[in-house]
Amino acid sequence: MVKPIMRDVFFLNQKSEPATKADVQVVTDLLDTLKANQARCVGMAANMIGVHKRIIAVNMGFMNMPMINPVITEKSGAYQTQEGCLSLEGVRSTTRYQEIVVEFLDISWKKQKQKYSGWTAQIIQHECDHLDGIVI
Ligand SMILES: [Zn+2]
Repeated sequence: MVKPIMRDVFFLNQKSEPATKADVQVVTDLLDTLKANQARCVGMAANMIGVHKRIIAVNMGFMNMPMINPVITEKSGAYQTQEGCLSLEGVRSTTRYQEIVVEFLDISWKKQKQKYSGWTAQIIQHECDHLDGIVI
């Protein structure tokens, strides 16, 4: 189900809890809401639809991929960039990393470990920050 986008700063600044299998509907809602906002949004964290669970959805070009309980375990190649966010007005400067390794559970709740670089890596870093209550 497509959900409204949360803009409450107090809510967005709180850390999210680990997701469990009871949160499967949140994964679906997040994918639906990302798809509905595809024109202006390339990734979304569950707190942006009002749920404090560690779930993100990332646009991978041809598809949107959910990541459950993602953890960035390695990062390299720091650079400065500017980003926007659906939950914010305007853009902010931030430090991102060119290459990252992420451990997460996929939509079948299987453990995955993947390397990402460039634009996809940047989206994942932005969304993982949301899980820790950081809006850029
Ligand atoms: Zn954001």
